Amino acid sequence: MKGKWKLGEPFGIGVFLHWTFAITVFLFLTGGGNPFGFAGGVLFISAVFGCVILHELGHSLAARHYGIGTRDITIYAIGGVASLNRMPKDPKQELVVALAGPAVNVVIAAILFPLLYVVQFANTELATFLLYLGGTNVVLVLFNMLPAFPMDGGRVFRALVSMKKDRVYATNLAAKIGKVIAVLLACYGIFGGGGPMLAFIGMFVWFAGESERQMVEAQESPAQSGVRFGRFGPIFYEFRHTPTASASRPTPPPPPPVSGASKPREIEWEVLPPEPRPRYFSS
Ligand SMILES: [Zn+2]
Repeated sequence: MKGKWKLGEPFGIGVFLHWTFAITVFLFLTGGGNPFGFAGGVLFISAVFGCVILHELGHSLAARHYGIGTRDITIYAIGGVASLNRMPKDPKQELVVALAGPAVNVVIAAILFPLLYVVQFANTELATFLLYLGGTNVVLVLFNMLPAFPMDGGRVFRALVSMKKDRVYATNLAAKIGKVIAVLLACYGIFGGGGPMLAFIGMFVWFAGESERQMVEAQESPAQSGVRFGRFGPIFYEFRHTPTASASRPTPPPPPPVSGASKPREIEWEVLPPEPRPRYFSS
């Protein structure tokens, strides 16, 4: 994908930075919430997104434990996205994978706050930095655990409902609640002083939730399947669904008779649309 740069490959997973991240840096440096000056502000926002990358790695490594690979992790303006090759269908596995991200931030906060206690007497600037970073990790946990599907809390909610009801019902319910929260976030962003990023996150939650809801519906009931995908700014959803393998693949037409050739011609049917890729989004 254009417009993104590779930062590294921890655990064999490519981590990328999307150009839109520059918007976040700009808004943070020019907004009122930066007590660190220019260089300190850049350092702080980098540290915050370092924590977001660790959060995404939490999801990815938990998914790997269940044999699910991660295509990449990308940092966008409104947060990080881990693109998993598929979503665990077992609700218990989904619960673990969804909780693994926020759990990383709990661990980071649990390390930073005692450290803050130690350094506060020696270096007030460093102490302020650690206080802000620790606080941001707490906010990351609380915000991502909002039951706004497809954010982590919404996935936890869906996993819990899936233990009792079927997956389509659980996803529809989670997406409905997610949309209510999406509207509230957008309203708070636009009218309540929350800022444009919150409004964007609200829009993202709405569209991404709806995309994934449609994906699950199509997967679970092949009769209604179709190719659908959503697009939201730089983050496009490849939730095209051509329901799995044999059921979905169009039957290749018989190869045209090729005179004199014993081997059938290679045909383009092998090029299939990308499989649906669930994405762990964290803001
Ligand atoms: Zn997450």
